[in-house]
Amino acid sequence: MATNDNILFSESSGLWAEVILPLALPQTYTYTIPPDLVEKVRPGCRAEVELKNKKYAGVVKAILNKQPAYQTKPISNVLDDEPIVYEQQLRLWQWMAQYYMCSEGEVMAAALPAHFKLSSETILLYNEEAGDDFSHLGDDEFIVAEALLIKKELRLSEVQQLLDINHVYPVIKKLIEKKICLVWESLDERYKVKKENYVILNPAFKNEDELSKILNEWKGAPKQMELLLAYLHLEKASGEVLQTELLKKSGATAAQLKGLVDKNILRVEKRAVDRIKTVAANIAVDFEFSTAQQEASDAVARSFDKKNVCLLHGVTGSGKTQVYVKLMEQYLRKGKQVLYLLPEIALTAQIIRRLQKHFGGNIAIYHSKFNDNERIELWNKIRTGEVKMVLGARSALFLPFKNLGLIIVDEEHDASYKQQDPSPRYNARDAAIYYAGLFNAQVLLGSATPSVESYFNATNDKYALVELNERFGGINLPAIEIIDVRQVAKKARPDGLFGRGKVMISPQLKEAMQQALDADRQVILFQNRRGYNPYLICGTCGFIPQCEHCSVSLTLHKYSNKLHCHYCASQYPKLITCPACGSNNWLEKNFGTEKIEEQLEEDFPKNKIARMDVDSVRGKKAHDSLIQLFEQHRFDILVGTQMVVKGLDFDKVSLVGILDADGLLSFADFRVNERAFQLMEQVSGRAGRKKEQGKVIIQATNVKHPVLQLVQQHDYKGLYQNEIVNRAAFFYPPYSRIVLLTLKHKDKTVVGNAADKLAASLRQDLQDYIVGPAAPVISRIRNKYLMEILIKLPKEYGMSMTYKKVIRNHINLLGGEKKYKAVSVVVDVDTN
Ligand code: ADP
Ligand code: ZN
Ligand code: ZN
Repeated sequence: MATNDNILFSESSGLWAEVILPLALPQTYTYTIPPDLVEKVRPGCRAEVELKNKKYAGVVKAILNKQPAYQTKPISNVLDDEPIVYEQQLRLWQWMAQYYMCSEGEVMAAALPAHFKLSSETILLYNEEAGDDFSHLGDDEFIVAEALLIKKELRLSEVQQLLDINHVYPVIKKLIEKKICLVWESLDERYKVKKENYVILNPAFKNEDELSKILNEWKGAPKQMELLLAYLHLEKASGEVLQTELLKKSGATAAQLKGLVDKNILRVEKRAVDRIKTVAANIAVDFEFSTAQQEASDAVARSFDKKNVCLLHGVTGSGKTQVYVKLMEQYLRKGKQVLYLLPEIALTAQIIRRLQKHFGGNIAIYHSKFNDNERIELWNKIRTGEVKMVLGARSALFLPFKNLGLIIVDEEHDASYKQQDPSPRYNARDAAIYYAGLFNAQVLLGSATPSVESYFNATNDKYALVELNERFGGINLPAIEIIDVRQVAKKARPDGLFGRGKVMISPQLKEAMQQALDADRQVILFQNRRGYNPYLICGTCGFIPQCEHCSVSLTLHKYSNKLHCHYCASQYPKLITCPACGSNNWLEKNFGTEKIEEQLEEDFPKNKIARMDVDSVRGKKAHDSLIQLFEQHRFDILVGTQMVVKGLDFDKVSLVGILDADGLLSFADFRVNERAFQLMEQVSGRAGRKKEQGKVIIQATNVKHPVLQLVQQHDYKGLYQNEIVNRAAFFYPPYSRIVLLTLKHKDKTVVGNAADKLAASLRQDLQDYIVGPAAPVISRIRNKYLMEILIKLPKEYGMSMTYKKVIRNHINLLGGEKKYKAVSVVVDVDTN
């Protein structure tokens, strides 16, 4: 029976909509579809709905014709004429939510660009690019635009008051489309359009004759001339010239630049960084395969007749990228869409240049650092099928493909495919396989060092396996020399500056570097994680400064001259007096990339050195240009962390140094050997890719470590054999599926009790599969104490959603207890 309320709200159309809200709610919500919206509501469209007095733009998941058992409110508006996602994306969201034990709302929030996600809390920003001519706007749009122009930002709830109508969201949607306003996500600043000054040459001087004419007839102002030459040089090297970069490189002043601008030779333009460049959509796959590549490529094609997933195991430098290219071409010609996944955005610059050579404007890049207008533009072009190929990191998986034919997962072993925080904590490689299945599309996983899981699947008939065992051009894999740094330490540096017998650069490495540099070659030095940066220790009492909020020692950063916590990003001034003993006898221990760079500048004064790590490379642009500059041999030595090892292709690198292999081999993690092998093999793979065999020097103390021996032999299969035996013995993946629960609370006792309670409760159903609880190595982060419970589910269980529900129920039971209400439980499925 219809209640009064119901009649007040709307007449019933006899239809309801199941709506996903972009929140961490355990479920979807159902709303009444008013008769006048019946025509417009479709799955995949956004609908404006109310929840607890707040408005949200949710995505319609399904249309129901059965009245739910509870009272439902009506949908207020439908925002899209065309669905913004297709059924396949909705199914991917649902699968991810179930498999990774999160909510569909969380997946939706991760999947959609900010501009699609409106709520009462949304802050709208005035788009400075918009100008102030609003004559083309409708009345309501005009009112909001004017208010935005004056106030620069408005909360959506304020707009609601401003308009006093029931159709606010459609108005906002139009303003976004007309680029009058931007959506700001308060938690995340990356959506701000970042603009910078670019310097460009007056097109009149693009003509070489015109240019040499002004240069030849130049009078006076020698500094301006120097500046112009510097500009031309930079422009040639990197195509685009940032004003700041130009002034820095040329040592010129802004006034001198203005001089050239006044003469109408150069121009300064404010431009959004990262604008997608438009390139003609041609296809030019104009290279020949080697025999080995041809065989591998044929084998991949044949495998797709039988199985949808194929693992291409090809040694570093074997030309896997070229194999991908020809395969992609086949799908493109069939009119299918192709997704090329990379573990990290950092890599896109080089790969995209390689791919654009072959596919021109057919291929686009998608990544989270793009501003939202661009992301939406690309989103829509993928949705309509206008863009056929996309290169991107894991979030590109969420794009609304229409006709997906192929997904390439390059460097499939890479841990960056797994999202850590926030939820959904998904692995894009694994999700890609599910997603492709929805289109009956194929997946090609590629790696020189496949993950144990993938290789297991490939050798157990689940995936096809294709091997490419030789480098392109027949060059041998690099020769690897292992240096025992303990021997070196005994002789060198009696001052013990680096403590515990650590040697930064051994004489052997130094000599090999000199040889490489003398031969006009380049060198890469790899130092694991920036956390290995120097820390301070009191030379008198041994006190090590720790973060006040986390149980970790602080890292000394030279650029800020402060102590940093890498877990919560707190910074502290460098200590002068030891709080424990009052002395001021501080020693710097260990060495990081900064310290190495410093040492190199001393040892190789004539050579140019660049450093690449999270601190030196802020933003994609800096990263790209550093790689480009290294490619162009503007630097001789590149020092870096993980960032330097991944899939990059450099011609002139003949030597790679791995400075501290011990650091790689000393993690308490069941994947430690696999990861260490992968890293060392990958970083070695940067040496000697063209023309001549390269060389790798690994510095270590435990030189007999089996993994080092395997790296020396480039013996992936040996590594796999060792690992798979251990995984079976200790019931780790691929034999089990792991769910890691991390409990957090500010009180140590509370979190300890909660963990005991939860573990006991879980054991009722999953007795044999529960490990712990135990405190993790870093047991306190951001003022919260942590406890972990590890669940090792048998494979069959792990894939089944039933057991995940069981686990969720036990977590909910715990949360239902008053004293544990404030304990948060983070669930991570298939941890990495
Ligand atoms: P991988 O990804 O397997 O490490 P790449 O695809 O980067 O290897 O290839 C290594 C180098 O060899 C690259 O510079 C690439 O351009 C070159 N190369 C590979 N295959 C060919 C080919 N068939 N023709 C010309 N150059 C090739
Ligand atoms: Zn002290
Ligand atoms: Zn901290």
